[in-house]
Amino acid sequence: MRDATKDPASALAALRRVRRLLITSHASPDGDAIGSELALAEVAAQLGVEATIVNRDPHPANLDFLPGIERIAVSDRLPPVEEVQLVAVLECPGLDRPDFEGLERWPILNIDHHLSNEQYGAVNYLDEEAPAVGEMVLRLAEAAGVALTPTMATNLYVALVTDTGDFRYSNATPRAFQAAAQLVAAGAVPHRIAEALWEQVPARLVRLQALVLATLQLEAGGRLATITCDAGMLAQAGAFPQDTENLVNVPRAIAGVRVAAFFKAFSPGSVKVSLRSRGDIDVQAVARAFGGGGHPNAAGCTVQGTLGEVQARLRQALLPLVEVS
Ligand code: 5GP
Ligand code: MN
Repeated sequence: MRDATKDPASALAALRRVRRLLITSHASPDGDAIGSELALAEVAAQLGVEATIVNRDPHPANLDFLPGIERIAVSDRLPPVEEVQLVAVLECPGLDRPDFEGLERWPILNIDHHLSNEQYGAVNYLDEEAPAVGEMVLRLAEAAGVALTPTMATNLYVALVTDTGDFRYSNATPRAFQAAAQLVAAGAVPHRIAEALWEQVPARLVRLQALVLATLQLEAGGRLATITCDAGMLAQAGAFPQDTENLVNVPRAIAGVRVAAFFKAFSPGSVKVSLRSRGDIDVQAVARAFGGGGHPNAAGCTVQGTLGEVQARLRQALLPLVEVS
């Protein structure tokens, strides 16, 4: 392990030392994960490095338009050792997040902006103040002196807008807007990207939303909101697990709600929980107590047990957070 650095120089040096790179990110990948992976692959190509991208889970359908998306393989198996010299792990606080067996057999280039990153890389390019990992990839591209192509700019702009909630969250900092200005100047087209991301949704998604939002429960005087999705609802809507991305923001947006929890019971005996909070309520601490993690206002975990058991345990942990003192 080496020291962590906010400077992309050591990451760039690591890339320049290899010819074959594997790129991966977390399970249930989001816009920052996918956009950053695709842009990093392009940066690598310009440096003469051949990149393969493998993720554990498929991406949400609204990312289908990202340039190069077809090159991402979805698999629970990694390529043979001889085909890889370095693995870039993006947006993962710990090595459990990519959810692959045996990733640690290769040298790792860790690129992340989470507070709680475990510095598991041979090189750790970490910046807690970066609005998105995509912004860190942009800094890396600049340091490399590679040309910022319109496809790279589009992928990085998607990373930025999805992680900042269209520049509405607290990470919409001057750095976020500076990066956006650079990316738009390089060929990202905000109105086309916004339409592709948010105004071309498949009908199954709206059907699923209707089923999931019907499960809304408000507790603690309206300060805790929960919603639930199970495999039956997915089947009824003809939807997939990744179609639930962002749905937890609906209960969080209710006036008076301090914490929103989304229970996703897709495989028997385990429940994925997404937590969101407002203000200074730290749901990351709760997620960590259940073996997960994330950011203070957006965190998640996967908990073993039946849906009822997991809901009861989480309720116990969350109610004290929303109690008014
Ligand atoms: P989401 O609820 O959208 O899946 O995730 C929200 C945030 O929590 C993200 O920053 C994500 O990295 C983190 N997160 C979600 N699930 C897990 C998990 O199982 N383990 C860890 N360590 N972090 C998680
Ligand atoms: Mn991110």
